[in-house]
Amino acid sequence: MATVAESIEQVKGRIEEIDPARARQEIERDGALLVDVREPYEWDEAHLAGAKLAPMATVRDRIAELAPDHSRRVILLCRVGNRSARAADTLGAELGYENVASIAGGIEAWRDAGLPVIEAEGLTPEQRMRYSRHTLLPEVGVEGQLKLLDAKVLLIGAGGLGAPSAFYLAAAGIGTLGLVDDDVVDESNLQRQVIHNTERVGMPKTESARMSIEALNPDVEVVEHRGRLGPDNILDIISGYDILVDGADNFPTRYLLNDAAVRLRKPVVSASILAFDGQISTFVPYEGPCYRCLYPVPPPPELAPSCGAAGVLGVMAGVMGLLQANEVIKLAAGIGEPLIGRLLLYDSLGTRFTELKVKRDPDCPICGDAAPEIPESELGKFPDYEAFCAGTPVGA
Ligand SMILES: [Zn+2]
Repeated sequence: MATVAESIEQVKGRIEEIDPARARQEIERDGALLVDVREPYEWDEAHLAGAKLAPMATVRDRIAELAPDHSRRVILLCRVGNRSARAADTLGAELGYENVASIAGGIEAWRDAGLPVIEAEGLTPEQRMRYSRHTLLPEVGVEGQLKLLDAKVLLIGAGGLGAPSAFYLAAAGIGTLGLVDDDVVDESNLQRQVIHNTERVGMPKTESARMSIEALNPDVEVVEHRGRLGPDNILDIISGYDILVDGADNFPTRYLLNDAAVRLRKPVVSASILAFDGQISTFVPYEGPCYRCLYPVPPPPELAPSCGAAGVLGVMAGVMGLLQANEVIKLAAGIGEPLIGRLLLYDSLGTRFTELKVKRDPDCPICGDAAPEIPESELGKFPDYEAFCAGTPVGA
């Protein structure tokens, strides 16, 4: 086998190199096996019809499966013909393959010769690199990544839950991230809201989050909604998004968001944290229960202290915020099994997850069978949630 010190010329002197036109003839006419030894991200970018992918690190192990017959003609391909030359040397000299060749000049020479190449569509070369660990997953692939880049996700709250959630959704390449928050970064936030930092204390949270996201991933368009969701603006704001992430820190906003989301049939990934406990569920209108099916009325204030009053373990925001991000990615890519009709509870002191089945309430005033149809003219009108909740806070 070629040693590392050995020059590529010496290796090429020992093996058979063929030009692309001849390789094509042998593959198409004579049934030669074409093995591409490049990396998966290179394959995603462009590959040849009928080729088998076996990256350099795996080709020694994979070849027995691809070509059990050692006398079979094997043609190796890489980008410019160097890796494939070394692989041909290994197969011939070490593994006993008798009839191995490398395509001189690789896929670049093949393309230059005007021969057909299957090119990936949609992702730029930079995006293929950035998202290669996603596209390697058969469940995601280039197609799934394109769906993520196309997705528009709104985070209600850029605080405890929204900070980790938005950060990872940005890394994952969610193309549009809307952030609703009217608060500024406070020192007491930094124990869990990792999208912000010490230098940004006093800065609006949406602005701080936008700066972090833009530094992480230029593919993401951040839309700042610096303010609070209210009955007068909620339909306008949420209508531009595909998926809503509820990390609100108060009950009136949670009920308002639920009622508006059901009206517009938008999925809501809802989580909350307090002290050492967290919970999460995904509400897809009419497919599973809505927030009100679970919580027809808010709990009394003594049972629902805020994080500000009761404290919260910082990592709880990360755990639950990332479970939210996971739900969003599944919904956006159309994969897996979302938490519809399931309420997942997390107890961090015991490190225990508990799952509860939750059902639609036929008497739910919003999504139940008897819920009144809302005429177009009434669509933007909502009850007085402040009065409804009587000021009971919850916590993120
Ligand atoms: Zn409901």
